[in-house]
Amino acid sequence: MSPKDPKSAKSPKSPKPPREKVDLDAYAAQMRAAPGVRPDIASVDPAGTPGFDGDKKAARKELRKLRRDLFSFQTRLWAERKRSMLIVLQAMDAGGKDGTIRKVFGAFDPQGTEVTGFGVPTEADLAHDFLWRIHQRTPRDGRIGIFNRSHYEDVLVVRVADLAPESVWRPRYQAIAEWERGLVEEGTTVLKFMLHISREEQQRRFQKRIDRPSKRWKFSEGDLAVRQHWGDYMDAYAEAIERTSTDGAPWYVIPADHKWYRDLAVARIVAGAAEQMHPRYPKRPELAGFVIPD
Ligand code: AMP
Ligand code: MG
Repeated sequence: MSPKDPKSAKSPKSPKPPREKVDLDAYAAQMRAAPGVRPDIASVDPAGTPGFDGDKKAARKELRKLRRDLFSFQTRLWAERKRSMLIVLQAMDAGGKDGTIRKVFGAFDPQGTEVTGFGVPTEADLAHDFLWRIHQRTPRDGRIGIFNRSHYEDVLVVRVADLAPESVWRPRYQAIAEWERGLVEEGTTVLKFMLHISREEQQRRFQKRIDRPSKRWKFSEGDLAVRQHWGDYMDAYAEAIERTSTDGAPWYVIPADHKWYRDLAVARIVAGAAEQMHPRYPKRPELAGFVIPD
């Protein structure tokens, strides 16, 4: 922790001490899935709030601050135009991918952000290698790419629903790890999140989708079939994370039953990575003292 500056306290009359600055690196390290280790997802409480002891209100307050940091980061990344960031969101249905994109990444300027949802592959997608459609959507220099589902579906749904034989999906772990390493080497910061909800929370969210006419469009009967294979999906997630969480492209398992904690956790980790990247505005020394002519 950095020493606190007494001048940074907003009101000298306030009896509360200024809030401790969160150590984003330590927080991310705590949440990161270790490379080559099978994560014990069942032991991660989806309703937990590790690294945070405040309530919903405090979480929302910290999120507002983090969103300002994220916006500043993006502006500098865009101005610098030398590097990029790729954020991968994976979750079971109703796990909160859409909400996270709205509530956390809504902080970014849409001009520099590209969100891609990956659904059932098209005929053209299937006629290529599985990374073909993915690679086309990676962010160019200066941009942030957000994947709502991703190439990981090719080792999740494809594996569990038996859409391809094991001889096809098993080699993909290594293919993914190598492909992501290439992205990182070329200047893309890669962050991968599994939003981890409980089966009971999914049931509540599905029920809400049915009960609220304005949410009914989100419900898909197919999701019920997927739900029946919860354990198989957890196994598939665990192996995917074990085999593809790397120092360069780490996975984070985020307890996501509480939306306010999920948003805070993702925002903290992305803001921490943003601090590390530390993009800067180009200095343009040739412009110093230049006066715009009439
Ligand atoms: P949604 O996220 O609700 O729009 O649903 C997208 C659907 O596409 C999900 O049911 C995914 O499992 C499915 N999907 C995404 N990628 C693949 C893939 N590579 N192979 C098969 N199904 C996929
Ligand atoms: Mg769906």
